[in-house]
Amino acid sequence: MPKDATPKITHHGAVTGVTGSCHQYQTANTNVLIDCGLFQGAESDRPLNAFDFAVPEVNALIVTHCHIDHVGRIPWLIAAGFRGPIYCTEPTAALLPLVLEDALGIHIPDDADLVEKALARILGQLQPVPYDQWHPLPNGETELRFQPAGHIMGSAYVELATESHRTVFSGDLGAPGAVFVDPPQAPERADVLVIESTYGNRDHEARAERKTELGNSLKRALADGGTVLIPAFSLGRTQEILAFIEDLLHEQGLIHPDAFQQGMSSPLPIILDSPLALRMTQAYRHLLDHWRDSMRHKRGAGRFPLAFDQLITIEHHRDHLAMVKRLTSSKQPAVVLAASGMCQGGRIMNYLEAMLPLPETDVFFVGYQARGTLGAAIQSAQPGDTLTVNRHKVPMNAQVHRLSGFSAHADRAGLTNFCTDIPEPPAEIRLVHGDHRVKQQFKAHLAERLPSTNVWVPG
Ligand SMILES: [Zn+2]
Ligand SMILES: [Zn+2]
Repeated sequence: MPKDATPKITHHGAVTGVTGSCHQYQTANTNVLIDCGLFQGAESDRPLNAFDFAVPEVNALIVTHCHIDHVGRIPWLIAAGFRGPIYCTEPTAALLPLVLEDALGIHIPDDADLVEKALARILGQLQPVPYDQWHPLPNGETELRFQPAGHIMGSAYVELATESHRTVFSGDLGAPGAVFVDPPQAPERADVLVIESTYGNRDHEARAERKTELGNSLKRALADGGTVLIPAFSLGRTQEILAFIEDLLHEQGLIHPDAFQQGMSSPLPIILDSPLALRMTQAYRHLLDHWRDSMRHKRGAGRFPLAFDQLITIEHHRDHLAMVKRLTSSKQPAVVLAASGMCQGGRIMNYLEAMLPLPETDVFFVGYQARGTLGAAIQSAQPGDTLTVNRHKVPMNAQVHRLSGFSAHADRAGLTNFCTDIPEPPAEIRLVHGDHRVKQQFKAHLAERLPSTNVWVPG
């Protein structure tokens, strides 16, 4: 391979932690970004519009999936002069405007006009590309292909090919057993692989048993009354968890009124309290009809994994406040799903403020909690500790559960297989999107299995 054909890869985010994904790929005529995400938690002190590269010189942006830590800074990238196409899969193109509208609404809450203009501009630059098809980038020198990443609806890993070189950016890779997406297959070729390593140091619990585990945990948690709070990203895990709950309700009658001795006159309410999650769930249902065999067919007539009798959705803020108040005072058993997944804002905050002091409350973590987030603080809190929620000091008496089998991220085994199943071992593997210690452990693990590969940790 001629030396000048080797692309230059620079990492602008997801270097020291898991948030702010943004990677730059440059050859003689190509200059593209892969993702442009928001920094969160301990990494969130960086200004939104501070880019450490020449934005107007970037020819194109390639989006792996719609999570905010991969797309959240797109409006600011455009404000900084980016005018190129934004490539993504077709489902991602359908979901992206919802995610960005929400993000813009949070950062510029008082200017609906500006939000609308920014969104219109983004939509104008969006270029959906089907899975599994090579597509030329603006200069024709490099081609792009999306492959299913199995993480959330629309998620993809990105292959970039020149005549002599193949680079793969994994984006976020999913784990087997997801309800709505299939697990990823390893690339057919990668000279350089840039791979996420969120769970590079551990394997998830057996996924086959997780539905039973969720059912049993819910039953135990609800037996003493009180609310089960599930903080979840609006996109991905929320829909997966809803589908599991629908299954539990249907198959096993597990979360049935008879399971409770006290306080239950009506079926257990499953409350989806998040306007964005609600819109995402509607979009998921729509996409399912278009993109895959509808879940209806798999589950039998009349069953909808994302819409069932016991599911209560809350749209308006006043109804949200009323629900927090009602559940806090009645201690009626209920399950609440609300964003944000790492307890950094969103409606989950009011539930946590009101209910963390109550010993009947159970918080179920189903996703990764980045350093510096309230979610991470709740996970490591001891009974009787004080936490700061909505700027108020709150005593922590709730029970905390971590269900790692529900992670939307591949575990160490999944990540390892993604690397080792590539027929020719890559010349270089770069580990991003993970905490430092995890990346070092995963590096050692990979280096043992791929002795000819240079495993490298940026930052
Ligand atoms: Zn993600
Ligand atoms: Zn991510």
